[in-house]
Amino acid sequence: MAADKRIKVETTCCYCGTGCGIVAWQDRKGSVAIEGDKDHPVNKGMLCSKGMNLHYTVNDRTDRLLYPQMRYNKNLPLQRVSWDDALDRTAAVFKTFIEKYGPDSVAFYISGQCLTEEYYVVNKLIKGFIGSNNIDTNSRLCMSSAVMGYKMALGEDSVPVCYDDIELADCFFVTGANPAWCHPIIWRRVEAHKAENPHVKIIVVDPRKTDSCSIADLHLQINPGTDVTLNHAIGRVLIENEDIDYQFINDHTEGFENYRSTVFSKTLEEAAQICGIDSRDIILAARYIGAAKGFLSMWTMGLNQSVVGVNKNLSLINLNLITGHIGKAGSGPFSLTGQPNAMGGREVGGLSNLLPAHRNLNDPQHRKYVQEFWGGTVISEKPGLTATEMFEALDKGTLKAIWIMCTNPLVSLPDVRFVEKALKKAKFVVVQEISSKPQTLAYADVILPAAAWLEKEGTMTNSERRISHLTKLIDPPGEAMPDREIICRFAQKMGYPGFDYETDAEVYQEHTKLTAETSIDISGLTYGLIKGLKTVQWPYPKDKMIPDSKRLFTDKQFYTSSKKAIIHSVDDQLTSELPTTDFPLILTTGRTRDQWHTMSKTGKVNKLNQHLPKALVEIHPEDAVALGVEDGNIVSITSRRGNVQMKASLTTAIKSGVVFLPMHWGKLLNSDLNRANNLTNNLLDPLSKEPDFKFCAVNVQKFTKP
Ligand code: SF4
Repeated sequence: MAADKRIKVETTCCYCGTGCGIVAWQDRKGSVAIEGDKDHPVNKGMLCSKGMNLHYTVNDRTDRLLYPQMRYNKNLPLQRVSWDDALDRTAAVFKTFIEKYGPDSVAFYISGQCLTEEYYVVNKLIKGFIGSNNIDTNSRLCMSSAVMGYKMALGEDSVPVCYDDIELADCFFVTGANPAWCHPIIWRRVEAHKAENPHVKIIVVDPRKTDSCSIADLHLQINPGTDVTLNHAIGRVLIENEDIDYQFINDHTEGFENYRSTVFSKTLEEAAQICGIDSRDIILAARYIGAAKGFLSMWTMGLNQSVVGVNKNLSLINLNLITGHIGKAGSGPFSLTGQPNAMGGREVGGLSNLLPAHRNLNDPQHRKYVQEFWGGTVISEKPGLTATEMFEALDKGTLKAIWIMCTNPLVSLPDVRFVEKALKKAKFVVVQEISSKPQTLAYADVILPAAAWLEKEGTMTNSERRISHLTKLIDPPGEAMPDREIICRFAQKMGYPGFDYETDAEVYQEHTKLTAETSIDISGLTYGLIKGLKTVQWPYPKDKMIPDSKRLFTDKQFYTSSKKAIIHSVDDQLTSELPTTDFPLILTTGRTRDQWHTMSKTGKVNKLNQHLPKALVEIHPEDAVALGVEDGNIVSITSRRGNVQMKASLTTAIKSGVVFLPMHWGKLLNSDLNRANNLTNNLLDPLSKEPDFKFCAVNVQKFTKP
């Protein structure tokens, strides 16, 4: 048999934070084909529906942006220009604003889908040379409450566990997450483990009965927003049953006595009533956790996307701390990252309040160290604007220019009609994109075409701190260019030194050098090594014995000044927009199985569009009767900010009093009436600044034509 001479590259899926390995190659006709990487430790050859259809998004280039475009003023149409013209003008406009209004008059809004090297150069540019911290990412919308929870409880933003803990756990507490749809390959490992070990208990906490509930031993269908009350109540029962680890609490934590008072301030019956569940189910959940040898808590947006997201995170991490289930096999609090490289962005400090390698923006020594390393300007101590704050500042006129890279805020941000208004008022908008579809392009003064997955190389980090190398397979179409190269060219047009990298490897090496002697130290992981090894978990320090990086805190030494983990006694008050007579129902939003974010990629794949061709609103049959709505009726859903119209899907999977909308759909044929974020609000968690996507007050009416 003739040898297969096709070039095959090993890469990583560009959708969720699971980080599955993929082998990709060009077939004889030049089309890209893919399969799951059988040797990859994460997925062992498996791919979910989104991953296995990724090649369609690469092969269909009909929507791709091919060359830079620019308009000379807001009244003129966009026209094709050269890269030099586009970047010269952008640099001139940025320089003018910075000179006239200061460095905080410009901002970069980027994405958890950027590669680590891309994140690194944008962060270096704005913080280290422009002199502003106005960089934030759409990871603010999904991860920032978890970042803050880890920092406050464990001393740093460090995920303590690994996927191999799945096969070692015997109790899973899956809360505010539907991994069966949103992290399918992680969930397949949980399913297989449960199938082989029937004694393994799975508790799912969600106001909706999702597919993840199909293997649950217990589904706690709580009222939206009551997670802290539930977690406290479980903590109370664990204490009452003496199912806690006193030795661990005494030796390795602080704050337990206050915590005990807090969780005993409500009776179990009071807590059950607030949560809308039976108190016996809380006792059962505590019994499952108390009996576990390995207790793994897993969560995503249901906890994070909340006005009390940090409190929800802390109250959950407390359950691992009081039971001593951290730093040992099969145990730990495991925040699953939504985006493929949300973790890499956190490592390079690519958010408005962070510095590289988990350094703190409010620490003068840390700012000085990074400034000297970069050799640029003084790093501002003032935290930058977060995602939603950028658009508020555009609306007020204090922010003049925004550079939007690899994200689609006109679908994904809350109260999106306000975002539209703000973008209209912006003095200068740069959009760096792969696709011609996102609505943001209509507001752009400059459009920069970017390279997509398989068209560039670099690294990403998944949910379990696993860094993977992504190899380039094909050239980008037209004049499209890798994001890293675009940013570096722009920085040089601005006249800044230190951006003349010739390869991605040079950026990576600089990033790893900056991690030396920090908790995420990867100074020993050269580009050659990561390319050869394909995938490695951090830390990976230089000239030191490589530790077992699978899980952190095995020595019970945390990153706090006392080396002890902190048990925070958080309030369980909900500060969301509560229902009223005019807006009596609670809206919660989320994802569907086969779509990714705002559908720029998955929306191109016919097979994926078949699962749920159109957005539907889920309504409980009892609520539907009261509203006079039948299954399939068009309903109008209104909040204080806007409205949508779509078909009703009656289902007992949703709790009565709550309606659910998918978040993926945006403007179609000039109508935005299927866009869930017309309704959501811009209430933020005060610490994480993450929006309250899972809770706002709406009314629902059967739609009648005027
Ligand atoms: Fe890609 Fe996530 Fe699916 Fe894995 S589980 S194939 S990373 S979308």
